[in-house]
Amino acid sequence: MPRLRQYPEVRRSYQTEGMATSLSWPILTRYGPCVVDTLNPAERSRRMALIRSKGTKPELFVRRLVHRMGYRYRLHAPELPGKPDLVFRRRKRAIFVHGCFWHRHPDPACKIARLPKSRPEFWVEKLSGNRERDAIQLAALENMGWRVLTIWECQLKEISELKENIRAFLEAE
Ligand SMILES: [Zn+2]
Repeated sequence: MPRLRQYPEVRRSYQTEGMATSLSWPILTRYGPCVVDTLNPAERSRRMALIRSKGTKPELFVRRLVHRMGYRYRLHAPELPGKPDLVFRRRKRAIFVHGCFWHRHPDPACKIARLPKSRPEFWVEKLSGNRERDAIQLAALENMGWRVLTIWECQLKEISELKENIRAFLEAE
């Protein structure tokens, strides 16, 4: 998008907010391409916090479930690669809870991870970075001797299966 260079405001909005689902696609105006953002800055930053930050709904769900199963954990140990969502320090195990769309759940049966029909190439480029980062962080944790379980958003529906997986992961020798 070379022409955007003339419009630093627009370019910044692309780089920092390009992943927001509510952000409109660029349209051509008589002054050049332009991104239309229907939210004011405060609303925008709240929306972005919802999309990217820790403490998402799937994560809260897993936290409550694991707590009810009787396990105690720490949240987002900042010193660990990728800041895992749940950290079981004594067992040296960590759990990530991933949204299927943003983290590209590789299961072909996963419906949430499917890309929008319009402009799939845009999303592939946007999201492949997330997946790469996840893989690097996972490898780094495992190299430090941690065992890691990734729970996908779409797996939250089968609660008994999920509980079994979590228990097996935490109790394995
Ligand atoms: Zn999924």
